[in-house]
Amino acid sequence: MSNLATALDLVPDSSTTDTQPENLREFLSELTAAGFIDAGLSQSSAPIAKSGELIHELASKCLSSAFVTWSHRMTSEYIDRFGSPFLREQRLPQLLAGERIGSTALATALADRSGKELLPITFERVDGQYLINGVIPWASNLYSDTLVVFAAREPNTQERKLFATELSFAGISVKPAEGLLALNATASGTVKFEGLQLSEDYVLDVVVDEFFSRMRPRFLLLQSAFCLGLTSASLESAKSANGAGPFATELEDLQEQFDDLISRWEALLQKQEDFASLPATQDPLPYLELRLAAAVLAQAVSRVELASVGGRGYFVANPTSRRVRESLFLSVQAPTEGSLRWEISQLKSLA
Ligand SMILES: Cc1cc2nc3c(=O)[nH]c(=O)nc-3n(C[C@H](O)[C@H](O)[C@H](O)COP(=O)(O)OP(=O)(O)OC[C@H]3O[C@@H](n4cnc5c(N)ncnc54)[C@H](O)[C@@H]3O)c2cc1C
Repeated sequence: MSNLATALDLVPDSSTTDTQPENLREFLSELTAAGFIDAGLSQSSAPIAKSGELIHELASKCLSSAFVTWSHRMTSEYIDRFGSPFLREQRLPQLLAGERIGSTALATALADRSGKELLPITFERVDGQYLINGVIPWASNLYSDTLVVFAAREPNTQERKLFATELSFAGISVKPAEGLLALNATASGTVKFEGLQLSEDYVLDVVVDEFFSRMRPRFLLLQSAFCLGLTSASLESAKSANGAGPFATELEDLQEQFDDLISRWEALLQKQEDFASLPATQDPLPYLELRLAAAVLAQAVSRVELASVGGRGYFVANPTSRRVRESLFLSVQAPTEGSLRWEISQLKSLA
């Protein structure tokens, strides 16, 4: 693993990634080729905490860059752990070389599991192939050859399966999302499947329950990394602002909450260090609580940052304004704030 300063040097100008539909592909390719996303994968001796540290640092500079790194890194881990022999032998090396980008498109699967809505993507077996139809309302890193991981449902048996596909395949169309509040360079949009045909090579070799039980803690920890990275930048900016005086007590309290979340995050990263020794069924509650608390704190801190910085922070191009808008993304990125609150309350009522 190369050192973090090198990774930070690769981060593009955040005012561009905030507002313009440029894309972050080159950044992701360079970051990946330099060996930055391998930590915590099966062949790496570096622990997942290194990935956490990377995403945290990236987010302190640019949430867009941290978010697309999370998506590419998680997709690579799904293939590394559960890919078919074809995916592991042919596609994983491309992902790890930065030659192909990954996209995790599991929001609909998470909503389906929580009981909020039925998975809108279906599969049928036809002549030894899987025929896929439906829509992924939101996904990111959508480049022409991106490898997307998603879940689909057999409409008769209600069986769920996890698939990978390449966006260049026939039967797929992408509608880019434009004019977002922030994160405009994340190549986000809607993916539609109309008669997509996939062979067995593109089916992940894992049952859906085990996949989520094993992957969700890691997914949530690395999402918490970008929430906490954004918060650290906001806290520093707020504390050093000329107008910080009246907010001293509040900032002290927010700093304490931040320090507490960092301790919880580090302890959970430590717990995830030895993947092989972890049980197939894991309690998601501490990870869900951390992710919710980290998102809520980021928004609280960015509000105080704006109040401390004052009117100049209200210009769209000011980094304070960018962080306020970026922090609001944390409530709508799956698992959304609504689904986190709902699932945490369900788990607590069962305890
Ligand atoms: C820029 C951008 C990029 C994105 N990129 C990706 C990506 O790469 N991959 C990906 O998977 N997704 C991505 N998403 C999608 C995102 O993860 C969410 O799925 C999406 O924003 C959720 O929208 P929703 O309206 O369904 O919100 P939800 O919060 O799911 O639903 C809205 C309402 O339902 C309520 N609600 C939520 N859960 C429950 C429940 N269990 N029971 C009852 N009520 C509930 C909430 O309180 C809320 O009122 C992206 C979104 C954006 C904006």
